Amino acid sequence: MLILGIETSCDETGVALYDSEKGLLAHALFSQIDMHADYGGVVPELASRDHVRKLLPLCDQVLADAGKTRSQIEGIAYTAGPGLIGALMVGGAVAHSLAFALGVPVLGVHHMEGHLLAPMLEPEPPAFPFVALLVSGGHTQLVLVKGIGEYEMLGESVDDAAGEAFDKTAKMLGLDYPGGPRVAALAEKGTPGRYKFPRPMTDRPGLDFSFSGLKTFTLNTVTAAEKAGELDDQTRADIALAFEAAVVDTLVIKCRRALEQTHSKRLVIAGGVSANKRLRAGLEAMTDRKQAKVFYARPEFCTDNGAMIAYAGCQRLLAGQQDGDRIVSVPRWPMNTLPPVSEVRSN
Ligand code: ATP
Ligand code: MG
Ligand code: FE
Repeated sequence: MLILGIETSCDETGVALYDSEKGLLAHALFSQIDMHADYGGVVPELASRDHVRKLLPLCDQVLADAGKTRSQIEGIAYTAGPGLIGALMVGGAVAHSLAFALGVPVLGVHHMEGHLLAPMLEPEPPAFPFVALLVSGGHTQLVLVKGIGEYEMLGESVDDAAGEAFDKTAKMLGLDYPGGPRVAALAEKGTPGRYKFPRPMTDRPGLDFSFSGLKTFTLNTVTAAEKAGELDDQTRADIALAFEAAVVDTLVIKCRRALEQTHSKRLVIAGGVSANKRLRAGLEAMTDRKQAKVFYARPEFCTDNGAMIAYAGCQRLLAGQQDGDRIVSVPRWPMNTLPPVSEVRSN
């Protein structure tokens, strides 16, 4: 089944063509980062308008790259939520219009299920069941995944998401959005051990996270260094490293606990922060010690993309799920309310 996948939940227009027999055929992404840079964050109305401009040209581009025509598309998947309502509606409207014109089924997909399943696009995909750590700009969750749509929430952030903490720390250090990759790059020049940041909520049992206190700790450290006249490039790098090490340690500790609690040997990490090299290394070391294995997507499929939506949608469309006539756009949408897919094929 040839599926067109469309992602427009925030500030990235992502399109991909996924074939259930041949795998991923083509994908394209347009990031609006430069457009929103002057405003210091994503402006929802500008985001929606730009998705309108970019979506159909990107669809034509992936079709051309894959050597396919519109009439060969057999199903369409789009991000139905969670995300910015206007941005979601653009993807939903285009997906439904195309599906109506082509006479093919269409399905609204959960953005976080897309992230969660992105590692399935890699050459050695994880088998079910596994524990998943979803770490993105808006989510930090530990989930026991028994199959597609069979999600048991083990823990989540009670305040900021890990990616959000990276972005806010970046701002405090004078770095641009999105801050994650920039904080990580700066941390590479940091002096280990100069600053020691707390590992929030690791001193008590449980699998929930909290990152807002760490953000305040960073702010206090930056302010103190500034007052002391010490906030030079080296100090910034040292703070970036201390912050990154604290986030990574915290995530590794909770992942280890989740593996122990569920007696699982497979850990999947997904979402933008799963591209972080220090996090990957920390989890590799931890899972090695436990004779377990960690799985993740290539960096470009950790952040928002069309390929993950095409893949997730394909699995559900194959199982017979579809929208009908109604465009689905859901800004807030808990992932554990999704229906299970009993029939799961591999890529
Ligand atoms: P959500 O998926 O929860 O709706 P989102 O779509 O904005 O949120 P993603 O696109 O999955 O989030 O990821 C973006 C986030 O990942 C940003 O917060 C960004 O700073 C962070 N990020 C990206 N690369 C890295 C990295 N190498 N290290 C740390 N953080 C990173
Ligand atoms: Mg994004
Ligand atoms: Fe995302």
